[in-house]
Amino acid sequence: MDRPAVIVKTAAELRVPPHWRDYQRERQQDPWAAARRDLQLDPQGPMNMAVLAVDRHLQQGLADKTALRFVARNAPALDMSYGTLAQQTNRLANVLQALGVAPGDHLFVLAGRLPALYVAVLGALKAGVVVTPLFSAFGPEPIATRMQLGQARLLVTTDILYRQKIRALRAQLPTLQHVLLVNPDGQLTTEPDTLDWTTVMAGASDHFTPAPTTADSPALLHFTSGTTGTPKGALHVHGAAITHYATGRHALDLHPQDRFWCTADPGWVTGTSYGILAPLLHGVTSLVDREEFDAERWYTLLQDERISVWYTAPTAIRLLMKAGPELAQRHQFPDLRFIASVGEPLNPEAVWWGKEVLGLPIHDNWWQTETGGIMVANTPAFDIKPGAMGRPLPGIDAYLVTQLQAPGEAPRVRVLDAPEAQGELALRAGWPSMFRGYLNNEARYQQCFADGLYLTGDLVRRDAEGYYWFVGRLDDVIKSAGHLIGPFEVESVLMEHPAVAEAGVIGKPDALVGETVKAFVSLKNGYLPDEALRSDLQAHARKRLGAAVAPKEIAFLPTLPRTRSGKIMRRLLKARELGLPEGDTSTLEAGA
Ligand code: AMP
Repeated sequence: MDRPAVIVKTAAELRVPPHWRDYQRERQQDPWAAARRDLQLDPQGPMNMAVLAVDRHLQQGLADKTALRFVARNAPALDMSYGTLAQQTNRLANVLQALGVAPGDHLFVLAGRLPALYVAVLGALKAGVVVTPLFSAFGPEPIATRMQLGQARLLVTTDILYRQKIRALRAQLPTLQHVLLVNPDGQLTTEPDTLDWTTVMAGASDHFTPAPTTADSPALLHFTSGTTGTPKGALHVHGAAITHYATGRHALDLHPQDRFWCTADPGWVTGTSYGILAPLLHGVTSLVDREEFDAERWYTLLQDERISVWYTAPTAIRLLMKAGPELAQRHQFPDLRFIASVGEPLNPEAVWWGKEVLGLPIHDNWWQTETGGIMVANTPAFDIKPGAMGRPLPGIDAYLVTQLQAPGEAPRVRVLDAPEAQGELALRAGWPSMFRGYLNNEARYQQCFADGLYLTGDLVRRDAEGYYWFVGRLDDVIKSAGHLIGPFEVESVLMEHPAVAEAGVIGKPDALVGETVKAFVSLKNGYLPDEALRSDLQAHARKRLGAAVAPKEIAFLPTLPRTRSGKIMRRLLKARELGLPEGDTSTLEAGA
């Protein structure tokens, strides 16, 4: 079907008057000052994300309003009000204090989307403790690496996950002093060297004086994958809440009466910044679905939970498209008024599908772990060009650059001024949610900046009207179902297998999930490249890494291509996989 290049916004489609309509005018305002005013913040005074997201609303008479509504297949829905969330987070903060966990210490959370996860994250923030939510589908290897790097002092997890993934690791986690075990069935947990969540929470006070944090105090540690080496811990500060609030307004158009659903898991940065913080900062009611994706279930939730603003991911949208329009047409979405998505390229087809099947186009937006919040977005303030990731939000100055330095030198860049250009996306450093360091790796952090610009590592195109279009990654990291996967982490686990001599891991383009993880291995002498070994390798990788990270495909090669300095040439493996001429990796980005 022929479709125009632009979806023109109409007032009817927006349903409620949006916060902003004039892109140019809003860009001339200072969104951070406006957010500070709304949040009644003194720039020099104390600042705590959790106090702003939860306790602040109690003074505004919202104690009884539902903050988080948890739904699950086999359990009744549970509504947690702002008042209860304030009490529960105070209790957790008291528990941490009683255990001797101090401001600046690191707490990890490994759990499904249970109420305790949200209480743990927000309670720790109140106590000034730095929080890392980990993806609960990770296998023991990614969990151990991250907890070791992050020097976890305390872990909140469930009894099942503890038994499956942590118990055998404890000896490798010398900094870990306390483990709080949540039993979702309400039974007492009896694991040695752990504490029972329900018991310790029951004995704690509802009152807590928040730690004296400021905008610059560390708050969240999110791990992200690079091409080489271990994952990087991107450190974020309490001041990031200013971006969460401002982008909740500009990119998601949150209004107090909204019922919001962010489908991302808090184990990934979107699930924390927009699944926990931004909606609570706006005092809205958020839905938390404890189940995994299911097309019928999702349409029913959108309808029955009267979701008005929905923030999801391209893979999920493609899965809904695959389920066919008839399923959607059996439901009605009169309350839905704004849909946004993030994490991977959103094909124009998906934007149109939203408009035709759900009655609303999907607003793609762009950001990454290091930026802490949405930077470039399609917003209510301008028409959508399906396929474009939007325009820089107010307060964000975006540039296209090429890096000029020789290998090993500090980055130097040339800014590409032409109205239409393609280059690396760079952002003027200094927005409130910009990461403040990679944990224990200052040199790597400094490599991300040149001439006051943060270099994102993404290749993009800017058109004459200032819309940005994603072209590809400049490095080899893999995006599968919206999750960033470091090839090195997968290669390292494959190399642990006694049969493997070399391993090279790439992202193989996939119409549904963007990319799937594909591994190439060469074997040590004496091992046969047969189906039995392939299954054994796959099982080994799944057990160590978890199904979301392990390779879906493993191919055997006699040797892997290497550079003269000995590095495995993943780009060449990818070119071969795609049937491109050897050495022609220039087009690899285009379909990323
Ligand atoms: P993460 O740090 O895991 O959130 O991943 C961030 C990366 O995901 C970005 O650097 C991009 O490569 C990719 N990404 C995020 N949003 C988009 C988008 N709207 N379109 C294309 N790629 C995206």
